[in-house]
Amino acid sequence: MTKDKLIIPESCYKVIMEHGRSNLPYESCGLVSGKGRHVQTVWKLVNEIKSDRRYFVGEKVIERTLEQIDKKKEKVIAIYHSHPATEPIPSSYDIVNHPNDELVMMIISYKSDKPQLKCYRVHNKTYNECLFLIDPNS
Ligand SMILES: [Zn+2]
Repeated sequence: MTKDKLIIPESCYKVIMEHGRSNLPYESCGLVSGKGRHVQTVWKLVNEIKSDRRYFVGEKVIERTLEQIDKKKEKVIAIYHSHPATEPIPSSYDIVNHPNDELVMMIISYKSDKPQLKCYRVHNKTYNECLFLIDPNS
């Protein structure tokens, strides 16, 4: 059980949370890369549609980001996006648009005063929560 946990360095966690906050009231999104279950880098992307319910990033930007991840010899671990005003639960739209079941879906909710991060594994159009820990020493 524990060995399936994602390990997120506190510095990366802060980048994701700040990115989401700075884009309110719109959704923010990005990629998270690293090795195995160890997160190492956060790639902030620009949500090309200003929406509080949707995010979109063009293929070219994704391709360029994937190249940079490859150069660092890392792999994409997760895709994150924020929910500015709703719970951190995948919407049916999120599920349908999740590009790859190998990737973790991270959602950061700003519904309450204390932002909340949740991670999910998506499989066959359903999802399970995936546990993570925030590592203060990296
Ligand atoms: Zn969503």
